[in-house]
Amino acid sequence: MSGKHSNLILALIVGGLVLAIIVVAICTSLYNGNPEGFGPVYVNIIAVGDFLGQFFLRSLRMIIVPLVLASIIVGISSLGDIRKIGGIGFRTLGFYLVTTSLAVLLGLILVNVFQPGVGAEGALTAGEGQAERAAQLAGREDVAIGDVFLSFLSTNIFKAFAEGDMLPIIVFALVLGGILTTLGERGRVVLKFFEGVNDAMMKIIGLILWLAPIGIFGLVIAKFGGASMEPGGLRAMVMSVGKFSAVVIGGITFHSVVTLPILLFVLSKRNPFKYFLDLIPALLTAWSTSSSGATIPMTIECTVDRAGVDSRAAGFVIPLGATVNMDGTAFYEAVAVIFIAQALNVDLSIGQMILIFLTATFSSIGVAAIPQASLVMIMVILSQVDIPAENIAMILAVDWFLDRFRTVANVWGDSVGAAFVGRHLQQS
Ligand code: ASP
Repeated sequence: MSGKHSNLILALIVGGLVLAIIVVAICTSLYNGNPEGFGPVYVNIIAVGDFLGQFFLRSLRMIIVPLVLASIIVGISSLGDIRKIGGIGFRTLGFYLVTTSLAVLLGLILVNVFQPGVGAEGALTAGEGQAERAAQLAGREDVAIGDVFLSFLSTNIFKAFAEGDMLPIIVFALVLGGILTTLGERGRVVLKFFEGVNDAMMKIIGLILWLAPIGIFGLVIAKFGGASMEPGGLRAMVMSVGKFSAVVIGGITFHSVVTLPILLFVLSKRNPFKYFLDLIPALLTAWSTSSSGATIPMTIECTVDRAGVDSRAAGFVIPLGATVNMDGTAFYEAVAVIFIAQALNVDLSIGQMILIFLTATFSSIGVAAIPQASLVMIMVILSQVDIPAENIAMILAVDWFLDRFRTVANVWGDSVGAAFVGRHLQQS
Protein backbone atom coordinates (compact mmCIF):
# COMPACT_ATOMS: atom_id res chain seq x y z
CA MET A 1 0.00 0.00 0.00
CA SER A 2 1.42 3.39 -0.95
CA GLY A 3 2.15 5.97 1.74
CA LYS A 4 -0.46 8.34 0.31
CA HIS A 5 -3.17 5.69 0.49
CA SER A 6 -2.27 4.51 3.94
CA ASN A 7 -2.40 8.05 5.31
CA LEU A 8 -5.78 8.57 3.70
CA ILE A 9 -7.04 5.37 5.33
CA LEU A 10 -5.64 6.48 8.67
CA ALA A 11 -7.49 9.80 8.39
CA LEU A 12 -10.69 7.99 7.42
CA ILE A 13 -10.40 5.56 10.33
CA VAL A 14 -9.91 8.32 12.88
CA GLY A 15 -12.73 10.27 11.23
CA GLY A 16 -15.02 7.22 11.43
CA LEU A 17 -14.31 6.79 15.11
CA VAL A 18 -14.88 10.45 15.94
CA LEU A 19 -18.09 10.49 13.90
CA ALA A 20 -19.35 7.39 15.71
CA ILE A 21 -18.72 9.00 19.11
CA ILE A 22 -20.59 12.12 17.99
CA VAL A 23 -23.52 10.04 16.67
CA VAL A 24 -23.74 8.05 19.94
CA ALA A 25 -23.57 11.24 22.04
CA ILE A 26 -26.33 12.95 20.03
CA CYS A 27 -28.55 9.85 19.91
CA THR A 28 -28.09 9.21 23.64
CA SER A 29 -29.19 12.71 24.55
CA LEU A 30 -32.17 12.52 22.16
CA TYR A 31 -33.06 9.14 23.64
CA ASN A 32 -32.79 10.37 27.23
CA GLY A 33 -35.01 13.34 26.36
CA ASN A 34 -37.66 11.22 24.70
CA PRO A 35 -37.20 7.45 25.19
CA GLU A 36 -40.58 6.50 23.71
CA GLY A 37 -40.31 8.62 20.59
CA PHE A 38 -36.62 8.25 19.76
CA GLY A 39 -36.14 4.68 21.07
CA PRO A 40 -37.26 2.87 17.89
CA VAL A 41 -35.15 5.15 15.68
CA TYR A 42 -32.11 4.58 17.92
CA VAL A 43 -32.62 0.82 17.74
CA ASN A 44 -32.53 1.04 13.95
CA ILE A 45 -29.40 3.16 13.94
CA ILE A 46 -27.74 0.61 16.22
CA ALA A 47 -28.84 -2.22 13.93
CA VAL A 48 -27.25 -0.52 10.92
CA GLY A 49 -24.06 0.07 12.93
CA ASP A 50 -24.05 -3.58 13.92
CA PHE A 51 -24.41 -4.67 10.30
CA LEU A 52 -21.49 -2.50 9.16
CA GLY A 53 -19.33 -3.66 12.06
CA GLN A 54 -20.08 -7.33 11.52
CA PHE A 55 -19.31 -7.00 7.82
CA PHE A 56 -15.84 -5.66 8.62
CA LEU A 57 -15.26 -8.18 11.39
CA ARG A 58 -16.25 -11.10 9.17
CA SER A 59 -13.99 -9.96 6.37
CA LEU A 60 -11.07 -9.94 8.83
CA ARG A 61 -12.00 -13.29 10.34
CA MET A 62 -12.42 -14.83 6.90
CA ILE A 63 -8.70 -14.63 6.16
CA ILE A 64 -7.19 -15.24 9.57
CA VAL A 65 -6.67 -19.01 9.36
CA PRO A 66 -5.05 -19.05 5.89
CA LEU A 67 -3.10 -15.90 6.73
CA VAL A 68 -1.69 -17.22 10.00
CA LEU A 69 -0.88 -20.61 8.49
CA ALA A 70 0.85 -19.20 5.41
CA SER A 71 2.65 -16.33 7.14
CA ILE A 72 4.12 -18.54 9.84
CA ILE A 73 5.21 -21.22 7.38
CA VAL A 74 6.79 -18.63 5.09
CA GLY A 75 8.26 -16.69 8.02
CA ILE A 76 9.89 -19.65 9.67
CA SER A 77 11.20 -21.14 6.44
CA SER A 78 12.64 -17.83 5.22
CA LEU A 79 14.85 -17.70 8.29
CA GLY A 80 16.74 -20.64 6.81
CA ASP A 81 19.54 -21.73 9.08
CA ILE A 82 18.13 -23.62 12.05
CA ARG A 83 20.64 -22.05 14.47
CA LYS A 84 19.35 -18.61 13.52
CA ILE A 85 15.83 -19.73 14.26
CA GLY A 86 17.00 -20.83 17.69
CA GLY A 87 18.35 -17.34 18.44
CA ILE A 88 15.27 -15.62 17.13
CA GLY A 89 12.87 -17.98 18.85
CA PHE A 90 14.71 -17.42 22.11
CA ARG A 91 14.62 -13.64 21.71
CA THR A 92 10.95 -13.64 20.76
CA LEU A 93 9.89 -15.75 23.73
CA GLY A 94 12.22 -13.84 26.05
CA PHE A 95 10.67 -10.57 24.93
CA TYR A 96 7.15 -11.91 25.46
CA LEU A 97 7.99 -13.17 28.91
CA VAL A 98 9.75 -10.02 30.10
CA THR A 99 7.03 -7.63 28.89
CA THR A 100 4.19 -9.76 30.20
CA SER A 101 5.74 -10.12 33.64
CA LEU A 102 6.47 -6.38 33.80
CA ALA A 103 2.79 -5.76 33.07
CA VAL A 104 1.64 -8.17 35.78
CA LEU A 105 4.08 -6.70 38.29
CA LEU A 106 2.72 -3.23 37.57
CA GLY A 107 -0.79 -4.57 38.08
CA LEU A 108 0.11 -6.07 41.44
CA ILE A 109 1.69 -2.82 42.59
CA LEU A 110 -1.20 -0.61 41.47
CA VAL A 111 -3.97 -2.80 42.85
CA ASN A 112 -2.22 -3.05 46.22
CA VAL A 113 -1.44 0.66 46.42
CA PHE A 114 -4.83 1.98 45.29
CA GLN A 115 -6.93 -0.86 46.70
CA PRO A 116 -9.90 -0.29 44.37
CA GLY A 117 -11.83 -3.18 45.87
CA VAL A 118 -11.80 -2.01 49.49
CA GLY A 119 -15.31 -0.91 50.40
CA ALA A 120 -16.55 -1.71 46.89
CA GLU A 121 -18.78 -4.65 47.74
CA GLY A 122 -21.96 -2.56 48.05
CA ALA A 123 -21.58 -1.11 44.58
CA LEU A 124 -20.84 -4.46 43.12
CA THR A 125 -23.91 -6.53 43.71
CA ALA A 126 -24.35 -8.22 40.38
CA GLY A 127 -27.50 -7.63 38.34
CA GLU A 128 -29.59 -10.62 37.33
CA GLY A 129 -28.17 -10.87 33.85
CA GLN A 130 -24.64 -10.84 35.20
CA ALA A 131 -25.26 -13.55 37.76
CA GLU A 132 -26.67 -15.73 34.98
CA ARG A 133 -23.69 -15.06 32.78
CA ALA A 134 -21.38 -15.95 35.66
CA ALA A 135 -23.20 -19.22 36.13
CA GLN A 136 -22.77 -20.02 32.44
CA LEU A 137 -19.08 -19.27 32.65
CA ALA A 138 -18.74 -21.35 35.79
CA GLY A 139 -19.37 -24.48 33.73
CA ARG A 140 -16.02 -23.87 32.02
CA GLU A 141 -14.06 -23.04 35.10
CA ASP A 142 -12.46 -26.44 35.54
CA VAL A 143 -9.64 -25.56 33.12
CA ALA A 144 -6.43 -26.48 34.92
CA ILE A 145 -3.17 -24.69 34.19
CA GLY A 146 -1.81 -27.95 32.71
CA ASP A 147 -4.62 -27.81 30.14
CA VAL A 148 -3.10 -24.61 28.80
CA PHE A 149 -0.14 -26.64 27.57
CA LEU A 150 -2.31 -29.41 26.15
CA SER A 151 -4.20 -26.76 24.22
CA PHE A 152 -1.04 -26.21 22.15
CA LEU A 153 -1.96 -29.36 20.25
CA SER A 154 -5.15 -30.29 18.49
CA THR A 155 -6.44 -33.83 18.16
CA ASN A 156 -7.40 -32.93 14.63
CA ILE A 157 -5.76 -30.03 12.83
CA PHE A 158 -8.70 -29.63 10.44
CA LYS A 159 -10.99 -29.17 13.41
CA ALA A 160 -8.63 -26.44 14.64
CA PHE A 161 -8.79 -24.79 11.20
CA ALA A 162 -12.57 -25.00 11.17
CA GLU A 163 -12.90 -23.58 14.67
CA GLY A 164 -10.14 -20.99 14.27
CA ASP A 165 -8.31 -22.48 17.26
CA MET A 166 -5.08 -20.51 16.91
CA LEU A 167 -2.60 -22.11 19.28
CA PRO A 168 -2.60 -25.57 17.61
CA ILE A 169 -2.61 -23.95 14.17
CA ILE A 170 0.53 -22.01 15.08
CA VAL A 171 2.32 -25.06 16.47
CA PHE A 172 1.39 -27.01 13.34
CA ALA A 173 2.58 -24.18 11.05
CA LEU A 174 5.90 -23.84 12.91
CA VAL A 175 6.57 -27.58 12.64
CA LEU A 176 5.42 -27.83 9.02
CA GLY A 177 7.42 -24.76 7.95
CA GLY A 178 10.54 -26.09 9.65
CA ILE A 179 10.19 -29.58 8.18
CA LEU A 180 9.54 -28.30 4.66
CA THR A 181 12.96 -26.63 4.63
CA THR A 182 14.58 -30.03 5.16
CA LEU A 183 12.90 -31.75 2.19
CA GLY A 184 14.90 -30.22 -0.64
CA GLU A 185 13.10 -29.73 -3.95
CA ARG A 186 9.85 -31.40 -2.82
CA GLY A 187 9.70 -29.06 0.17
CA ARG A 188 10.43 -26.01 -1.97
CA VAL A 189 7.40 -26.69 -4.18
CA VAL A 190 5.11 -26.69 -1.16
CA LEU A 191 6.77 -23.58 0.26
CA LYS A 192 6.27 -21.76 -3.05
CA PHE A 193 2.58 -22.57 -2.74
CA PHE A 194 2.38 -21.05 0.75
CA GLU A 195 4.37 -18.02 -0.41
CA GLY A 196 1.71 -17.47 -3.07
CA VAL A 197 -1.06 -17.86 -0.49
CA ASN A 198 0.71 -15.42 1.82
CA ASP A 199 1.14 -12.78 -0.90
CA ALA A 200 -2.51 -13.15 -1.88
CA MET A 201 -3.63 -12.71 1.73
CA MET A 202 -1.59 -9.53 2.03
CA LYS A 203 -3.33 -8.20 -1.08
CA ILE A 204 -6.72 -9.08 0.40
CA ILE A 205 -5.77 -7.23 3.61
CA GLY A 206 -5.04 -4.19 1.46
CA LEU A 207 -8.65 -4.35 0.26
CA ILE A 208 -10.15 -5.00 3.69
CA LEU A 209 -8.30 -1.96 4.99
CA TRP A 210 -10.69 0.22 3.00
CA LEU A 211 -13.55 -1.26 5.01
CA ALA A 212 -11.93 -0.34 8.33
CA PRO A 213 -13.25 3.25 8.62
CA ILE A 214 -16.85 2.15 8.08
CA GLY A 215 -16.41 -1.02 10.13
CA ILE A 216 -14.96 0.80 13.14
CA PHE A 217 -17.69 3.43 12.84
CA GLY A 218 -20.34 0.67 12.91
CA LEU A 219 -18.78 -1.34 15.74
CA VAL A 220 -18.59 1.69 18.02
CA ILE A 221 -22.17 2.76 17.31
CA ALA A 222 -23.48 -0.76 17.88
CA LYS A 223 -21.72 -1.44 21.17
CA PHE A 224 -21.74 1.98 22.78
CA GLY A 225 -25.20 2.84 21.47
CA GLY A 226 -26.54 -0.44 22.83
CA ALA A 227 -24.90 0.13 26.21
CA SER A 228 -26.22 3.68 26.46
CA MET A 229 -29.79 2.39 26.06
CA GLU A 230 -29.46 -0.05 28.94
CA PRO A 231 -30.92 1.01 32.30
CA GLY A 232 -28.39 3.13 34.11
CA GLY A 233 -26.47 3.68 30.88
CA LEU A 234 -22.77 3.82 30.23
CA ARG A 235 -22.00 6.38 32.87
CA ALA A 236 -23.59 4.42 35.69
CA MET A 237 -21.71 1.32 34.64
CA VAL A 238 -18.32 3.00 34.66
CA MET A 239 -19.04 4.91 37.88
CA SER A 240 -20.11 1.79 39.80
CA VAL A 241 -16.67 0.30 39.51
CA GLY A 242 -14.93 3.57 38.75
CA LYS A 243 -11.83 2.99 40.85
CA PHE A 244 -11.31 -0.47 39.40
CA SER A 245 -11.71 0.87 35.85
CA ALA A 246 -9.34 3.74 36.60
CA VAL A 247 -6.65 1.38 37.91
CA VAL A 248 -7.05 -0.89 34.88
CA ILE A 249 -7.03 1.87 32.27
CA GLY A 250 -4.31 3.84 34.09
CA GLY A 251 -2.04 0.80 34.41
CA ILE A 252 -2.53 -0.31 30.82
CA THR A 253 -1.82 3.22 29.65
CA PHE A 254 1.37 3.36 31.73
CA HIS A 255 2.58 0.04 30.33
CA SER A 256 1.77 1.20 26.78
CA VAL A 257 3.17 4.72 26.87
CA VAL A 258 6.12 4.25 29.23
CA THR A 259 7.36 0.66 29.53
CA LEU A 260 6.86 -0.56 25.96
CA PRO A 261 8.10 2.64 24.25
CA ILE A 262 11.28 2.57 26.37
CA LEU A 263 11.88 -1.03 25.29
CA LEU A 264 11.09 -0.11 21.69
CA PHE A 265 13.59 2.72 21.76
CA VAL A 266 16.34 0.85 23.56
CA LEU A 267 16.00 -2.51 21.79
CA SER A 268 14.92 -1.44 18.31
CA LYS A 269 16.27 2.12 18.06
CA ARG A 270 12.93 3.33 16.76
CA ASN A 271 11.11 6.54 17.49
CA PRO A 272 8.20 5.31 19.63
CA PHE A 273 5.93 8.17 18.66
CA LYS A 274 6.39 7.59 14.95
CA TYR A 275 5.89 3.85 15.45
CA PHE A 276 2.71 4.51 17.38
CA LEU A 277 1.37 6.71 14.56
CA ASP A 278 2.13 3.94 12.06
CA LEU A 279 0.23 1.47 14.20
CA ILE A 280 -2.91 3.56 14.78
CA PRO A 281 -5.14 1.69 12.27
CA ALA A 282 -4.30 -1.60 13.99
CA LEU A 283 -4.72 -0.17 17.50
CA LEU A 284 -8.10 1.32 16.67
CA THR A 285 -9.18 -1.97 15.11
CA ALA A 286 -8.12 -3.70 18.33
CA TRP A 287 -10.08 -1.19 20.38
CA SER A 288 -13.22 -1.54 18.32
CA THR A 289 -13.17 -5.32 17.84
CA SER A 290 -11.82 -6.33 21.31
CA SER A 291 -10.00 -9.13 19.54
CA SER A 292 -6.27 -9.26 18.91
CA GLY A 293 -6.91 -12.31 16.71
CA ALA A 294 -9.24 -10.42 14.41
CA THR A 295 -6.71 -7.59 14.34
CA ILE A 296 -3.80 -9.78 13.09
CA PRO A 297 -4.20 -8.77 9.42
CA MET A 298 -4.20 -5.07 10.31
CA THR A 299 -1.23 -5.46 12.66
CA ILE A 300 0.84 -7.18 9.98
CA GLU A 301 -0.14 -4.55 7.42
CA CYS A 302 0.77 -1.65 9.72
CA THR A 303 4.06 -3.07 10.99
CA VAL A 304 5.30 -4.12 7.54
CA ASP A 305 3.84 -1.57 5.14
CA ARG A 306 3.58 1.51 7.30
CA ALA A 307 6.41 1.03 9.81
CA GLY A 308 8.81 -0.94 7.59
CA VAL A 309 9.37 -3.88 9.96
CA ASP A 310 11.07 -6.85 8.28
CA SER A 311 8.20 -8.93 6.91
CA ARG A 312 9.87 -12.19 7.95
CA ALA A 313 9.77 -11.02 11.56
CA ALA A 314 6.24 -9.61 11.45
CA GLY A 315 5.02 -12.73 9.63
CA PHE A 316 5.59 -14.92 12.59
CA VAL A 317 6.01 -12.63 15.60
CA ILE A 318 2.58 -11.01 15.10
CA PRO A 319 0.38 -14.12 14.73
CA LEU A 320 2.35 -15.90 17.45
CA GLY A 321 2.20 -12.84 19.71
CA ALA A 322 -1.51 -12.28 19.12
CA THR A 323 -2.07 -15.74 20.51
CA VAL A 324 0.50 -16.10 23.26
CA ASN A 325 1.74 -12.61 24.18
CA MET A 326 -0.95 -10.67 26.01
CA ASP A 327 0.43 -7.94 28.26
CA GLY A 328 -2.92 -6.22 28.77
CA THR A 329 -4.71 -9.48 29.50
CA ALA A 330 -2.13 -10.70 32.01
CA PHE A 331 -2.20 -7.32 33.77
CA TYR A 332 -5.99 -7.41 33.89
CA GLU A 333 -6.18 -10.96 35.24
CA ALA A 334 -3.99 -10.05 38.22
CA VAL A 335 -5.79 -6.79 38.96
CA ALA A 336 -9.26 -8.34 38.62
CA VAL A 337 -8.53 -11.25 40.96
CA ILE A 338 -7.07 -9.05 43.68
CA PHE A 339 -9.85 -6.49 43.25
CA ILE A 340 -12.46 -9.20 43.84
CA ALA A 341 -10.53 -10.47 46.86
CA GLN A 342 -10.42 -6.94 48.31
CA ALA A 343 -14.15 -6.44 47.76
CA LEU A 344 -14.83 -9.71 49.59
CA ASN A 345 -12.45 -8.81 52.42
CA VAL A 346 -10.26 -11.79 51.66
CA ASP A 347 -6.68 -11.21 52.78
CA LEU A 348 -4.22 -12.67 50.33
CA SER A 349 -0.87 -13.90 51.61
CA ILE A 350 2.43 -13.08 49.89
CA GLY A 351 2.48 -16.70 48.67
CA GLN A 352 -0.91 -16.23 47.06
CA MET A 353 0.25 -12.98 45.45
CA ILE A 354 3.19 -14.84 43.94
CA LEU A 355 0.84 -17.55 42.74
CA ILE A 356 -1.33 -14.89 41.09
CA PHE A 357 1.77 -13.33 39.51
CA LEU A 358 2.84 -16.66 38.02
CA THR A 359 -0.57 -17.84 36.89
CA ALA A 360 -1.52 -14.47 35.37
CA THR A 361 1.78 -14.37 33.45
CA PHE A 362 1.60 -17.90 32.11
CA SER A 363 -2.13 -18.40 31.76
CA SER A 364 -2.40 -15.38 29.47
CA ILE A 365 -0.69 -17.64 26.91
CA GLY A 366 -3.77 -19.81 26.81
CA VAL A 367 -6.32 -16.98 26.64
CA ALA A 368 -7.95 -16.94 23.21
CA ALA A 369 -7.50 -13.73 21.22
CA ILE A 370 -11.24 -13.06 21.17
CA PRO A 371 -13.50 -10.67 23.10
CA GLN A 372 -13.69 -11.19 26.87
CA ALA A 373 -11.71 -14.42 26.78
CA SER A 374 -9.88 -13.54 30.00
CA LEU A 375 -12.99 -14.15 32.07
CA VAL A 376 -12.57 -17.90 32.09
CA MET A 377 -8.93 -17.61 33.13
CA ILE A 378 -9.81 -15.16 35.90
CA MET A 379 -12.23 -17.75 37.27
CA VAL A 380 -9.46 -20.35 37.22
CA ILE A 381 -7.17 -18.06 39.21
CA LEU A 382 -9.96 -17.16 41.64
CA SER A 383 -10.50 -20.79 42.49
CA GLN A 384 -6.77 -21.27 42.90
CA VAL A 385 -6.78 -18.73 45.69
CA ASP A 386 -9.94 -20.27 47.15
CA ILE A 387 -12.39 -17.58 46.11
CA PRO A 388 -15.66 -18.90 44.64
CA ALA A 389 -15.47 -18.35 40.90
CA GLU A 390 -18.98 -16.95 40.53
CA ASN A 391 -17.71 -13.71 42.08
CA ILE A 392 -16.60 -12.93 38.54
CA ALA A 393 -20.09 -11.41 38.31
CA MET A 394 -18.67 -8.31 40.04
CA ILE A 395 -16.69 -7.26 37.00
CA LEU A 396 -18.96 -8.46 34.21
CA ALA A 397 -20.70 -5.12 33.78
CA VAL A 398 -17.48 -3.30 32.89
CA ASP A 399 -15.49 -6.15 31.41
CA TRP A 400 -16.55 -5.57 27.79
CA PHE A 401 -15.42 -1.95 28.09
CA LEU A 402 -12.07 -2.67 29.75
CA ASP A 403 -11.49 -5.48 27.26
CA ARG A 404 -10.98 -2.84 24.56
CA PHE A 405 -8.06 -1.29 26.41
CA ARG A 406 -6.32 -4.55 27.25
CA THR A 407 -6.69 -5.71 23.65
CA VAL A 408 -4.97 -2.51 22.46
CA ALA A 409 -2.11 -3.18 24.91
CA ASN A 410 -1.91 -6.78 23.65
CA VAL A 411 -1.60 -5.67 20.03
CA TRP A 412 0.83 -2.85 20.85
CA GLY A 413 3.02 -5.30 22.79
CA ASP A 414 3.13 -7.66 19.79
CA SER A 415 4.02 -4.81 17.45
CA VAL A 416 6.88 -3.69 19.68
CA GLY A 417 8.06 -7.32 19.75
CA ALA A 418 7.98 -7.48 15.94
CA ALA A 419 10.15 -4.35 15.70
CA PHE A 420 12.65 -5.88 18.13
CA VAL A 421 12.91 -9.20 16.28
CA GLY A 422 12.91 -7.40 12.92
CA ARG A 423 15.91 -5.31 13.89
CA HIS A 424 17.78 -8.36 15.07
CA LEU A 425 17.07 -10.14 11.76
CA GLN A 426 18.33 -7.24 9.71
CA GLN A 427 21.52 -7.07 11.75
CA SER A 428 22.31 -10.76 11.50
N1 ASP B 1 -9.91 -9.62 24.11
C1 ASP B 1 -8.55 -9.95 24.39
C2 ASP B 1 -7.78 -10.09 23.10
O1 ASP B 1 -8.30 -10.49 22.10
C3 ASP B 1 -8.43 -11.20 25.22
C4 ASP B 1 -8.97 -10.93 26.62
O2 ASP B 1 -8.22 -10.43 27.45
O3 ASP B 1 -10.14 -11.19 26.88
O4 ASP B 1 -6.62 -9.79 23.04
